[in-house]
Amino acid sequence: MPLQIVRSDITTMPVDAIVNAANESLLGGGGVDGAIHRAAGPQLLAECRTLGGCRTGQAKITKGYRLPARYVIHTVGPVWYGGQRGEQALLTSAYRTSLELAAAHGCRSVAFPLISAGVYGYPKAQALQVAVDTIRAFLQTHAMDVSLVVFDREAYALAEKNFPDLIAG
Ligand code: ADP
Repeated sequence: MPLQIVRSDITTMPVDAIVNAANESLLGGGGVDGAIHRAAGPQLLAECRTLGGCRTGQAKITKGYRLPARYVIHTVGPVWYGGQRGEQALLTSAYRTSLELAAAHGCRSVAFPLISAGVYGYPKAQALQVAVDTIRAFLQTHAMDVSLVVFDREAYALAEKNFPDLIAG
């Protein structure tokens, strides 16, 4: 299945690239960002320091160091301010630029977390819809296996309800 939804810890995914829901500094944070830096080891932060940050909706790539994944693609999703500040376009751009960067580096398998759906406050059902729509659109023209890795119980229950055909296993 080119797009599947799995419940897992993204740091364990054996894929060519995992995507990090980073902040604009790219210098680490909490949530999935903290988990990725802990699992990859200090060389990841050292490489991130050389990148000069990343604008919201854009993406940058590093090596994966101690992770099973060869690359980490760091993208910055929008903070949710109620939906009238371009949040949907920025979240779409975060997914699309990450997928384009993965394709440019020859990645055939990519795993995403649910970008912006944690501390950044994007409503989970809407975040899931943007993720699925944007990944599906990209897969119309690219051969790639994409996993959407959903971590928390609430988001996974929404995925089972709204996208039962995408649930792995
Ligand atoms: P953001 O700042 O973009 O909202 P967060 O890291 O706070 O990023 O949350 C994004 C999503 O990542 C949330 O749905 C959260 O449950 C999930 N998450 C947290 N840790 C992990 C992990 N180890 N693997 C996969 N997803 C995770």
